[in-house]
Amino acid sequence: MIDLKDHLQPFATATRLTPQEAANLCVGQLGIFNTLQHGPPEIRPEPTPLAQLSFHHRWLFHSEPRYCPQCLAGDGSPLQNEHGGPWRRHWYLPMVFACPIHQRLLRHACPAGSNHEIHAAPMDRSAVGSLSDPRPHPTQCRHLTGQKPSGGRRAFCGVQLADPSPDHQPADEVPELLRLQNSLITNMNRPPGDPLRVAGTPIMNHQYFTDLGIIAALVLLSWPASEGLCASPTLAAAIDEEARLRLHMSRTRQTHHHQNQFRVSQPWAAAPADARTCAAILSIAWKVLKKPTSGGLQRALAPLLIQADRTNGRATNAIRSNPRRSRALAVAMRKPWSGLRHGPRLNSAPGW
Ligand SMILES: [Zn+2]
Ligand SMILES: [Zn+2]
Repeated sequence: MIDLKDHLQPFATATRLTPQEAANLCVGQLGIFNTLQHGPPEIRPEPTPLAQLSFHHRWLFHSEPRYCPQCLAGDGSPLQNEHGGPWRRHWYLPMVFACPIHQRLLRHACPAGSNHEIHAAPMDRSAVGSLSDPRPHPTQCRHLTGQKPSGGRRAFCGVQLADPSPDHQPADEVPELLRLQNSLITNMNRPPGDPLRVAGTPIMNHQYFTDLGIIAALVLLSWPASEGLCASPTLAAAIDEEARLRLHMSRTRQTHHHQNQFRVSQPWAAAPADARTCAAILSIAWKVLKKPTSGGLQRALAPLLIQADRTNGRATNAIRSNPRRSRALAVAMRKPWSGLRHGPRLNSAPGW
């Protein structure tokens, strides 16, 4: 799903596509990852295979796509009537949570998800279920179920994911989340001549989204420190539930003192599957990251860093020292805030 690598030419030959057409089927061709491969050498970080990048950046890549049931229902053309609408590459990006065509939030799970037989952690599973099974229609759920094998092949879920009926979401939330979605998609396709900026400093597309994921992790870990930036009380309630879940995960997981940084920050290092909760967190992170100066960014981050540090200092350090963050974000997350750790309450701290 990310990059066909050595399989590109054989795949292109077998499918009668040009190599570029075959490559374009992959998520790695999206603008968000493009700068990683083709950015100017002086600002390109150490070369990282995309598959590895996607594993460590679970705010950048999902192994399980979200989907728009209306897109899957097709556009009424003979081709789409037969095969359904396309599964879009963007649906593998956690930062894509809405469909701009149908003006709705995406779904993230099969309605019959509890029937699925889950073999491994999400990142260890194949991004497409029952890969070699020709039976499911492209718009049917391909997950295996726990049922006994029948006729030599394992039973798959088969629930129809396409649905032409429009969604019913709270009308006061969707316009703001759709505006955010449009802005994020525009940023993903930003041309090299007009780079994105963090605190006024030009950075590459993928770095911008890495930074956004780092701040999103801090929003969760420090919740409810940034509640004032949330678009609505119902979205705040969704983040509240997610934040409790992550905290619970971090406490029930066996933690060893020598555990590496990746594992320590893991409970906060992935985007929620639910589109609405994910969008709510990202909308706060986006408001923080768009501060135009380093001082502004630092001031916006300080309450999050202070509260996150109180909740879990080791995880905060691990998130904050993510080696793939932009230099501008690294500067804004430097540690003057640590002096306030045992100081006055957040809301009365002078200067913040
Ligand atoms: Zn759609
Ligand atoms: Zn299913």
